[in-house]
Amino acid sequence: MRCRVCRADPVIELRQHNAAFCPEHLLKFCRDQVARTIDRFDMFQPDDRVLVAVSGGKDSLALWDILHELGYETEGLVIGLGIGDYSEASTGAAQRFANSAGLRLHHHDLAEEHGFTVPDAAAATGRVPCSACGLSKRHVIDRAALDGGFDVVVTGHNLDDEAAVLFGNVVRWQTEYLARQRPVLPARPGFPRKAKPLVRVSEREMAAYCLVRGIDYIVEECPMAPGNKHLEYKAVLNDLEVRSPGAKQAFYFGFQERAAEHLAGAAADDPALGSCRDCGSPTPNEICSFCRLASRASVELTGRLAEAVAE
Ligand code: SF4
Ligand code: ZN
Repeated sequence: MRCRVCRADPVIELRQHNAAFCPEHLLKFCRDQVARTIDRFDMFQPDDRVLVAVSGGKDSLALWDILHELGYETEGLVIGLGIGDYSEASTGAAQRFANSAGLRLHHHDLAEEHGFTVPDAAAATGRVPCSACGLSKRHVIDRAALDGGFDVVVTGHNLDDEAAVLFGNVVRWQTEYLARQRPVLPARPGFPRKAKPLVRVSEREMAAYCLVRGIDYIVEECPMAPGNKHLEYKAVLNDLEVRSPGAKQAFYFGFQERAAEHLAGAAADDPALGSCRDCGSPTPNEICSFCRLASRASVELTGRLAEAVAE
């Protein structure tokens, strides 16, 4: 196969699109796909201030690069999760990208600002690390977006991620989650607008995009990911995609176009929200779930420090 546009040697073949692209036209294809997604789902406007949540991985750095190239006003946010070398590498890659592109990166650190790390939170709750991590990231991202006056927060979830989450929610028929699985969620009191402009592009396309653009991203996976159901669902869908190219796209966009609206009524009504006694975030309880997690996790950290001192 030759590049679909100019017939040059291709750098990537995309069976789901029955096409191949040379480096130049791969970049254009990815940018066009993102621009089309932003437009199709009315994610944000050309003069909006966009906060890009980055992890130092290929998807979020490619997203930041694409939005910048498309002319949006963007700033980045990286969160120190305290997951050993992985977190340091993650912050380092995000900072290097920001420096090379001349863009502003905000850095928040769980241990410095809230007195715990993701491993502390996992030990304190006895649950999988990803659940404490997700809760913490949502809290920090929401606060940073609102405090910074951004119009929208964007994340680098790609088609593979979103199809895997959708698959997991369908397997268990979690209709409340399905009702909220949209590429854009409007702002609500105390919560910023959120969008996922990469839902039309795959992991492979983003890896190739970074290679062509010379973006130096962290390749290693988070050491706390193994055991995460999400990875199993991705593997199942990857098998399906090999046998039936385009299956992920058909599954995800078929859901958005034909089913999502019918499930809107399954979303639980927002409970009456007050303000968290400790941090002021919206919550139906006296203390929000993030502050409850932080207090349990910091007890765990203090206990471990006391043990270390006694040894
Ligand atoms: Fe957090 Fe889990 Fe992602 Fe690691 S794999 S960064 S613990 S959500
Ligand atoms: Zn709180």
